[in-house]
Amino acid sequence: MENIFGLSINDISNLIAPFDVPRFRAKQIAEWMYRKGASSFDGMTNLSKDLRKKLSDNFFIGRPSLIDKWDSSDDETTKFLLGFKDGVAVECVLMRHDYGNSVCISTQAGCSMGCRFCASTIHGVERDLLAGEMLSEVMYIDEYLKTTDEKAKVDTLVLMGSGEPMMNYDNVISFMRLIHEPYTLNMSYRSMTVSTAGIIDKIDSLANEDIPVSLAISLHAPNDDIRDLIMPVNKKYGVDDLIAAGKRYGDKTKRRVTYEYILIAGLNDSDDNAKELAKRLRGQLASVNLIPVNSVMKSDFQRPSKDRVNKFCAILNERHVAATVRREMGSDIAAACGQLRNRHIDCKS
Ligand code: SAH
Repeated sequence: MENIFGLSINDISNLIAPFDVPRFRAKQIAEWMYRKGASSFDGMTNLSKDLRKKLSDNFFIGRPSLIDKWDSSDDETTKFLLGFKDGVAVECVLMRHDYGNSVCISTQAGCSMGCRFCASTIHGVERDLLAGEMLSEVMYIDEYLKTTDEKAKVDTLVLMGSGEPMMNYDNVISFMRLIHEPYTLNMSYRSMTVSTAGIIDKIDSLANEDIPVSLAISLHAPNDDIRDLIMPVNKKYGVDDLIAAGKRYGDKTKRRVTYEYILIAGLNDSDDNAKELAKRLRGQLASVNLIPVNSVMKSDFQRPSKDRVNKFCAILNERHVAATVRREMGSDIAAACGQLRNRHIDCKS
């Protein structure tokens, strides 16, 4: 049996070609799956009984099941742990902002990047997620929103959950093209953000895809000496080359690049670190998102004081590098990447 959830109309059309039905049937099937939440062929009432039977005999609509769900105490953030048929579990998060509903999805189960501060990478990478699986994360939350308010929907999307999107490049691109389609969630590319630990050749590939998504680069250090200590990927793709790639991305797509910078007390949070960072980013169409580190099991990184964080931010702004401190959401439900999946894995083992 083949899973058809995640296929485009074109793919479905090719798949049902042997059944000798008109091509518009593929569009109807896609709309049932992606717009009306169908999880079986039985209810697809505008298809003949015969076609429904042929479909059920050959295919299934693979959607995840809910393993667990947590709401933050302020009700702004809800985190979902979803399970796929093969037992793989991934996290996705709904954040209710005043400007709309934002969803953060995982692109891989686990992660191979080995960043020292990150919970997602502790167990390594289990497997890549398929385009349809990423779509199913967003659709799960979109349908969840509609259970309380028919008009509510997912407005913006960040690929910032577990996994490195650029290590699962083809599936990630297929997913973004799919969720952009009018017969799925019809999301604009501008409302999507891809976050990367800095795989330079893939940043360049993304710039040439002709899909103007926003790019976030997890920089986290002003120089190679510090970045080498916390991000093994820096040994291959260093700070200078990475920032140059960010600039190329901005120039090509005209989209502002965001540099994410986790602040870790005593490691990358000094005035000199801020000055060095400002010097490197000055003149680029970029902004810096400062994130006081979340402490994660098995890591002893500490957050700087509030004053330190504000001073770091001020130094960047004084030097004409736009910087903001990220408002924290969901910390009481361990919304930082990978923390819930780990709890699930640790509980199983
Ligand atoms: N692999 C991609 C996307 C997933 S990580 C990337 O590296 O960008 C998403 C963001 O969460 C990254 O900026 C990552 O560095 C950050 N992050 C991971 N662990 C964190 C922690 N303990 N505290 C704060 N941010 C963290």
